[in-house]
Amino acid sequence: MVQVKEGTLDSKVPDGPITEKWDRRRNELKLISPTNKRKFEVIVVGTGLAGTSAAASLAELGYNVKAFYIQDSPRRAHSIAAQGGINAAKNYPNDGDSICRLFYDTVKGGDFRSREANVYRLAQISNNIIDHCVAQGVPFAREYGGLLANRTFGGALVSRTFYCRGQTGQQLLLGAYSALMRQVHLGKVKLFPRHEMLDLVVIDGAARGIITRDLISGKLEAHTGHAVLLCTGGYGNVFYLSTNAKASNVTAAWRCHKRGAFFANPCFTQIHPTCIPVSGKYQSKLTLMSESLRNDGRVWVPKKKGDTRAPNEIPEEERDYYLERRYPAYGNMVPRDVASRAAKERCDAGCGV
Ligand SMILES: Cc1cc2nc3c(=O)[nH]c(=O)nc-3n(C[C@H](O)[C@H](O)[C@H](O)COP(=O)(O)OP(=O)(O)OC[C@H]3O[C@@H](n4cnc5c(N)ncnc54)[C@H](O)[C@@H]3O)c2cc1C
Repeated sequence: MVQVKEGTLDSKVPDGPITEKWDRRRNELKLISPTNKRKFEVIVVGTGLAGTSAAASLAELGYNVKAFYIQDSPRRAHSIAAQGGINAAKNYPNDGDSICRLFYDTVKGGDFRSREANVYRLAQISNNIIDHCVAQGVPFAREYGGLLANRTFGGALVSRTFYCRGQTGQQLLLGAYSALMRQVHLGKVKLFPRHEMLDLVVIDGAARGIITRDLISGKLEAHTGHAVLLCTGGYGNVFYLSTNAKASNVTAAWRCHKRGAFFANPCFTQIHPTCIPVSGKYQSKLTLMSESLRNDGRVWVPKKKGDTRAPNEIPEEERDYYLERRYPAYGNMVPRDVASRAAKERCDAGCGV
């Protein structure tokens, strides 16, 4: 957790040119000897893709880990809902991709608000992540000849998305979960299912523990560690209707904020342009049609307002492929926020179906 000093955020981004910052930091960091790693205890809150990977990796390095989560199994974290895929700059289709282009598209896709040095690092290690997941057994889609397949995705003019049909998140989580359970069996990770973090313990400005509630018995417990990792996911539910799981409830992040951690712009939330609209008051979740629909198919509305004909009765010349019309370069593959706004504009104009 980042320490706060007199109201300023020290993001600890290293100095130097953006392409070298984190490589330099890795070389400069003091190593901890394997004997000493065993003496440290790390608390990981949340076991989605972020928490499960962090817990398994830290344990593999030799640290002792305690992992807390709301569900009864890490396999039920919201991450299983991720459908479309994971980006990496492998440039397998030879369509001009590079680490620099992935970096640029990601910064742009984040409305230029992301911390650029960290995005560059993400782009740099994206290729290793794919190799790592393949080694874990994640069944990415493959071409007929056996090579890993790529598809296009919103906000990019290249094909760099690795995917497992419409269940990429679930398959990635199963891979990470198997790495985690290996460490559980080795005694390096202790799992705390059905435990909700209620508060953060801060000592001398550093996070040193958490207060949890056992969701079965209601018992309150205090757990201490040398460091606390918050991997508690998104908070889309504050907007009421959301594709996020019910446990994506912002409580952990909010409590850390109350204890002094900075909270960036809460409006920095992604919008899915391919949600199915609510069908009644009883519906508490939005359902997502995979965004791969945007590349495997074409998006259109009737040109005529209030057209009640069935889609297959509307001839080609009476269809408005509004994304292709408005954005000739990207077409259906414009970034999500652009696609969502364009869809709303068409619906508000009376062309929705
Ligand atoms: C429908 C949908 C489709 C998506 N598709 C894609 C995609 O194709 N590609 C992509 O890259 N991203 C996609 N995303 C986004 C992606 O799924 C998320 O960004 C990612 O899964 C978040 O992972 P996480 O580990 O941070 O959080 P989560 O998977 O949400 O895990 C959070 C964990 O924290 C625990 N937790 C929360 N609060 C507490 C608390 N107070 N105490 C204890 N534990 C707590 C939960 O139990 C859970 O274990 C999609 C998102 C949605 C909603």
